[in-house]
Amino acid sequence: MKILIASERGSIQLDVSEWERLANVEYVATQDETGLLKQIVDADILIPGWKVPITAKIIAAGKKLKMIQVFSVGFDKVDHKAAAKKGVMVCNTGGSNAESVAELTWGLILGLFRRIPGGDRLMRTGKWGRFKADKQKLIWGKTLGIVGFGAIGRLIGKIGRLAFNMNILTYDPYVIPETVEVFGGRLVSLETVMKESDVVSIHVPLSDTTRHMIGIRELGMMKSTAIIVNTARGAIIDEAALIKCLQEEVIAGAALDVFEVEPLHVDSPLRSMDNVIMVSHIGTCPEVFIKMRKAGLENVARFLKGVKPMRIVNPSYIIASKS
Ligand code: NAD
Repeated sequence: MKILIASERGSIQLDVSEWERLANVEYVATQDETGLLKQIVDADILIPGWKVPITAKIIAAGKKLKMIQVFSVGFDKVDHKAAAKKGVMVCNTGGSNAESVAELTWGLILGLFRRIPGGDRLMRTGKWGRFKADKQKLIWGKTLGIVGFGAIGRLIGKIGRLAFNMNILTYDPYVIPETVEVFGGRLVSLETVMKESDVVSIHVPLSDTTRHMIGIRELGMMKSTAIIVNTARGAIIDEAALIKCLQEEVIAGAALDVFEVEPLHVDSPLRSMDNVIMVSHIGTCPEVFIKMRKAGLENVARFLKGVKPMRIVNPSYIIASKS
């Protein structure tokens, strides 16, 4: 059994000693797919690095490949459909950083509703007063719309309901109404979420179906007083459409942790907008990295011991590989 880690040995910050007892662990430090293509030929398990997307070409070259384990919740850098077709399972570390992302999301919502970063900037220039006083709003009792009711979406809803007495709406075609009702919310259409919410928070994975699922049409449905928050993946929102809607005050603001292209371009208009607060993809707090690594390490160890891995994100690999 060979495990290929697409990273330099010294930089992976993983204690792979358990794997080393059960398999041959090799490293490939590469910034592009060329190096990976050579070494993946006889690998059974691939641990992708952060730089090289795992394309259909790389997956096809892995003649013995059985498992791809990403050390994150987002798995959009792996062509999981190509993996499914070849009978290769793709696993993530789902759920391991939900609390961390939920805390950041709430920090952003509160920060934008009360214009906290603007107030802080004002103080630092020696002034005293409110930043954009007319835009400051109360969250208490308002409507929170959650797009994607998974591990993070549910926590966001729970906090909104319990801490801020919010009315919870959610759009997620893969959950049943009862799942949302347990959290005191209502399962509705995307259109209802966009039209009725004061805060729309995005928590879906990036995929072919979710890329640009929030565009000019959906943003245009929102109340002019509402804000949108994205701590999932940048390309779920059409960024050009978002910029236009913010410039024209179609919506009241955006709070962003993720962007279509990261790092965000230095000249992006988002950087100079008063109705935007943003951070640089910091959803996972460093304290949580250990928990994520543990989840990934344990999952590969399970596979090596012949136990079914957890958090398989492309269960269709069984069906697709047989057809
Ligand atoms: P999850 O898998 O638990 O939940 C995702 C939910 O989205 C599921 O309930 C699923 O049914 C739903 N969904 C899928 N496609 C949908 C669609 N087309 N429309 C509506 N709902 C849909 O994942 P999670 O742990 O809640 O994480 C959500 C996303 O957050 C991840 O995929 C990742 O991209 C992102 N994330 C970002 C950071 C960060 O640092 N900012 C950290 C962790 C996760």
